[in-house]
Amino acid sequence: MLQLTDVTKSYPTPQGPLYVLDGVDLRLTRGESLALMGESGSGKSTLLHLAAGLDVPDRGEILLGGERLSALDETRRSALRRQRLGLVFQQFHLVPSLSVADNLTLQARLAKREDPAWTQHLLARLGLADLEGRYPEQLSGGQQQRLAIGRALAARPDLLLADEPTGNLDEAAADDVLALLQALIAESGCALLMVTHSARVAAPLDRCVHLQRGRLADDDA
Ligand code: ADP
Ligand code: MG
Repeated sequence: MLQLTDVTKSYPTPQGPLYVLDGVDLRLTRGESLALMGESGSGKSTLLHLAAGLDVPDRGEILLGGERLSALDETRRSALRRQRLGLVFQQFHLVPSLSVADNLTLQARLAKREDPAWTQHLLARLGLADLEGRYPEQLSGGQQQRLAIGRALAARPDLLLADEPTGNLDEAAADDVLALLQALIAESGCALLMVTHSARVAAPLDRCVHLQRGRLADDDA
């Protein structure tokens, strides 16, 4: 589903390049769920951006659904992203001028992968069926993040990349969102790569890896 081989990434700084990732190898198979942990600033978001093809590594190879990202131009990369990927961030990034229903289907429409039955199912499972005519500002934080998760899953992606999806929620709302996320992932057979700094959040996932000094270590390695 996703394979990173010897991926290195640095950012230029006035003091010279800052190496964030230094020879990272990672493999995620179909339907697998993986927690990516590491201290703040360890490069977790950088890794997710590279996996999504939103940025390019200095060195190394990234395969998404069998396609080499480096071999694709931006048009084909963004098409691949639309077909294969769902993205969820700490900030919900909802469109304020669109209703709940329109936010939910926005990306699926762009990908020409709309599925009305799946959309209705998602609305019900997310507890948003009675709120589909509302606007994001009329929702609680937990409801907004559930909507963002629904939007990411509306086009039935093969892989969901989630960057601290519960980072902006209180503990009760976070638990709620996580339970729902896992149930929907299991239902749709979608693989999950989730950044978190909470061991409690990571525990139910299939596997957990730690990013430290630019390298990845398996939890049980
Ligand atoms: P994490 O998500 O684990 O907190 P990030 O991937 O966001 O870590 O950042 C890793 C390091 O790279 C940090 O030191 C951060 O300041 C730096 N960094 C991230 N993005 C940029 C950028 N666009 N330009 C320069 N430095 C960056
Ligand atoms: Mg981050």
